[in-house]
Amino acid sequence: MVPNWESGFLLRKKRGRVTTPRGKLGRKGGAPRAKMEIDVCPRWLLAKVRIPGQSQHHVALLVSTLLALSLAPIVTHVPHICLMRKVLGIACPGCGITHSIIAILRLNPVMAWQANPAGFGVASAFCFQLLARPIAIVAPRTGDFVSQLSRHISNVALAFLLLVWISRVV
Ligand SMILES: [Zn+2]
Repeated sequence: MVPNWESGFLLRKKRGRVTTPRGKLGRKGGAPRAKMEIDVCPRWLLAKVRIPGQSQHHVALLVSTLLALSLAPIVTHVPHICLMRKVLGIACPGCGITHSIIAILRLNPVMAWQANPAGFGVASAFCFQLLARPIAIVAPRTGDFVSQLSRHISNVALAFLLLVWISRVV
């Protein structure tokens, strides 16, 4: 639990020995966040609807993923302005990702691959959130494991994204 180490950290600080707590905290009072996780849910809102503290992180990621997936078809209608392509003349790692994910949702893997092969990695990370977060909410014991696994999956997705980008640029 986060408050435990936080209070322990302060205690050690008071004694004059400043030690860095293990692990990086994505945001104050929250669980560590992976780079590919989408989290747009304010915690005060979750607290207001009486979501217990231990479940807030999982509820936030579940709601955010659902929101991202439902907004994806709208986003493709907005003209994509790629700053990287404009300035450097090369596509950014995220170019084609939204189209790729929508193609996956429409069960069109060929189109998804053509748009951006890394879409499969990102879609897998999304899929994991949709499947595992409800488990973590219902069974809080699994919460830490789910968060840990989520970090691994999102790191793999990110690595794949960069790999695809490098292969496209080179
Ligand atoms: Zn781009």
